[in-house]
Amino acid sequence: MSYLVRAERYAAASGVIVRRAQTPGGEWGVYEHRRRLITLHPDLRGPQLDWTFWHELGHAEYGHVGGDCRRKSKQERQADRWAALHMFDPFAFIQHVQPGMTDQEVACELGALPVAVTRLREALATLQVPLHEVA
Ligand SMILES: [Zn+2]
Repeated sequence: MSYLVRAERYAAASGVIVRRAQTPGGEWGVYEHRRRLITLHPDLRGPQLDWTFWHELGHAEYGHVGGDCRRKSKQERQADRWAALHMFDPFAFIQHVQPGMTDQEVACELGALPVAVTRLREALATLQVPLHEVA
C-alpha cells in the first residue's frame, strides 16, 4: 500500500479532514486543530506530497495549535519524528535497507524524500536502534 493511501486511511480513521488548496505563503501543508483540517498545497506530487501529508498528520496526532517561534520549532520536530516513525512500512526495510547505505540511497529505494529517511534515522538513534537493524 502506498504512503499516500495509508496516510488517507490514517486521516479518515483519526477524523482528520484533508483537502488540496492554496496555503498561506505557499507552504507545503498546514494543520488547523480547531477544524481538524489538513490543507495540502495543490502542486505537491509524489514523495513530497507523501512526506507533507504524514508530517501534517503528526501535527494532528499531537493536537498542535502553533505558538511562538520556539514552540513552533519544537512542534515541527515532533511532527517530523512522528511522520518518520509512522509512514514507512517495516517490511520495506527488510527488503531494501542494507548497512552502509546513505539516506539518499535508502530514500531512492523506498520512494521517499531523503529528509524522511534522515528523520527516521534520528528518531531510531534516540531509541538506540541503527537503521539497518530495523531490517
Ligand atoms: Zn509542520
